[in-house]
Amino acid sequence: MSVHYGYDKRVLVTGGAGFLGSHLCEKLLAQGCDVLCVDNYFTGSKKNIVHLLDHPRFELMRHDVTFPLYVEVDEIYNLACPASPIHYQHDPVQTTKTSVHGAINMLGLAKRVGARILQASTSEVYGDPTVHPQPEEYWGNVNPIGPRSCYDEGKRCAETLFFDYHRQCKLEIKVVRIFNTYGPRMHPQDGRVVSNFIMQALRGEPITVYGQGDQTRSFCYVDDLVDGFIRFMATPAEYPGPLNLGNPGEFTILELAETVIRLTKSASKIIHKPLPQDDPKQRKPDISKAKALLDWAPQIALEEGLSRTINYFTALAR
Ligand code: NAD
Ligand code: UDP
Ligand code: UDP
Repeated sequence: MSVHYGYDKRVLVTGGAGFLGSHLCEKLLAQGCDVLCVDNYFTGSKKNIVHLLDHPRFELMRHDVTFPLYVEVDEIYNLACPASPIHYQHDPVQTTKTSVHGAINMLGLAKRVGARILQASTSEVYGDPTVHPQPEEYWGNVNPIGPRSCYDEGKRCAETLFFDYHRQCKLEIKVVRIFNTYGPRMHPQDGRVVSNFIMQALRGEPITVYGQGDQTRSFCYVDDLVDGFIRFMATPAEYPGPLNLGNPGEFTILELAETVIRLTKSASKIIHKPLPQDDPKQRKPDISKAKALLDWAPQIALEEGLSRTINYFTALAR
């Protein structure tokens, strides 16, 4: 399925110093690829990839994808974009620019060099869904002018651009809709629920459940997701996606809080805080397409993944 180039496949990972990007770079190197990691360090950090710097097939470039980039590569994984509500709402105009201008530049690059390109889209394109679980055919229920819109609409526009370059310029694209993913190297202060709860539990601080905690999410461990990325990239050109990737196990936020308290053996108590505006009530991927196309399904159960993540944050807190 994958192409043989006669040399190490040259792969560009934008946002490669971030949480998902750093795991992806690692896995691509392990598979023998030549990896170019591009990042402006807005939410990512050199710390996430410092262990790769001496690798002979790894190269790091500080660059903002809203500016053009001229390099020669065979494949592109476009991950550059802040992912947590705190970070993407910090400078919402920049968030839209990163999604939209970033996509245009990476698509222009892919077009010039004939590279295959994967877009890290998101379950946020479904907004606050009225269909449950969400199949790829669902068009979503998105507020175009709310505080989450810079991210949701930016990612939706990026999907539009990917499909227009695919139709208009015959580009080989792969659009992945990622559902909540967690694991080591998540930013400890990014405000996402898994990192928040673990940090609070480890510090013995109150666990902040927003609203009643009956809203649901599905949590995918990072290794499962990255495995799905690489399998999807290797599929034949006639499968552009969009493809849901995530773990269909569905938990309420209250259940997550209780599980984290139990696994950390923390004395923290649960407190309730107001639910943020436009907070989706439920989210769970329908992954039947990914199962059929990639012969893929998540392997790491929530408790196992949480334990690994807790170990990472424990070491960080020392
Ligand atoms: P992250 O914040 O850890 O990683 C994003 C990386 O992009 C960071 O290293 C950041 O510095 C970099 N970046 C941001 N703006 C940039 C720019 N203009 N130019 C260059 N680099 C830039 O987040 P993550 O969780 O690793 O997310 C990676 C991608 O996956 C994002 O596109 C995100 O939208 C998508 N995604 C993630 C999840 C999840 O649950 N983790 C869910 C849905 C979608
Ligand atoms: N681009 C880039 N690297 C390349 C080729 C293009 O960053 O190797 C950028 C370029 O700056 C342009 C964008 O990608 O703004 C879109 O390129 P495309 O060729 O599709 O459009 P055009 O250059 O005709 O506007
Ligand atoms: N959440 C929470 N407490 C926190 C952080 C988040 O109850 O300290 C809730 C949040 O309101 C949402 C869910 O957890 O319902 C997931 O939030 P996150 O920001 O991780 O991701 P997203 O809303 O983008 O799925």
